[in-house]
Amino acid sequence: MTLLLNGFELAKQCRAELAEKIKSLSRAPKLAVILVGNDPASAVYVGNKEKAAKEVGIESVAYRFEEISQSELLALIARLNADNGVDGILVQLPLPRDLNEKEILQAIDPAKDVDGFHPLNLGKLLIGEPAPVACTPKGCMKLIHLAKQDLTGLRAVVIGRSVIVGKPMAQLLLKENCTVTMAHSKTENLPELCRTADILVAAIGKPKTVKADWIKNGAIVIDVGINRLENGKLCGDVDFDACFDKCAAITPVPKGVGPMTIAMLLENTVEALERKISL
Ligand code: NDP
Repeated sequence: MTLLLNGFELAKQCRAELAEKIKSLSRAPKLAVILVGNDPASAVYVGNKEKAAKEVGIESVAYRFEEISQSELLALIARLNADNGVDGILVQLPLPRDLNEKEILQAIDPAKDVDGFHPLNLGKLLIGEPAPVACTPKGCMKLIHLAKQDLTGLRAVVIGRSVIVGKPMAQLLLKENCTVTMAHSKTENLPELCRTADILVAAIGKPKTVKADWIKNGAIVIDVGINRLENGKLCGDVDFDACFDKCAAITPVPKGVGPMTIAMLLENTVEALERKISL
């Protein structure tokens, strides 16, 4: 029988645990969220993050700008870095083209980098030091653990090599003793490669790319993709209906990885305050 990895329910559980933990802290964690421009999807994401933060007892402050210059944005980040009452800083991506995204992300204090995108934190992940981990891959690991605790020796294939999903995902699997292969748009014989995977993570951004005959019987399949079809419905990078019976466990889209990404943002914010308190 295939296990449906219900990210919606797991995220609810994570939020409840975080709400309990927050009650025991000396003060509420504080998250600063920065949104620039008027991309409607980004506005929805920021709204969802703020709402989720408030529900668990995280104080959330949003800075919304139609337009802002690079230097003004850097000055705001410097102020938030220096503010001891702010534990986490999140800059909603993508930023408008006239802003230098790399410079902005690197300006965030790594200790407050709740998205885990700062090069220092990515580097720490690479060398196995504790650091904030990117929310989506972190959430994927929790979903994988619903299906299996010890991943030692398993073969994992990660499709997609972005800095925010694919690369940190591969590192987390490696850390748990999987034998990891990363695939991308130039990978040859992708279906054949995927058929070797005990754990298959698809972070491609193209609807229903992964077909049933790409799946090894009994594989754990994590679908990170969020794609909107012409009929308005959301679907993942995996052909869910066709693949379902072959998998030991699979995430749906929606209600799979997405809710876990937000839950992990909250967890990273709480952990940022906990680290500060323990210093
Ligand atoms: P990117 O566009 O940055 O990366 C996509 C990756 O997929 C690239 O490495 C690309 O290869 C690879 N790729 C593209 N086409 C193919 C193909 N036909 N075969 C094999 N590999 C291919 O995307 P992200 O990593 O940012 O996001 C991936 C998906 O996950 C998107 O749908 C996004 O919306 C979703 N997402 C979902 C989140 C969630 O919370 N659920 C959070 C973040 C993202 P190459 O490097 O060679 O170009």
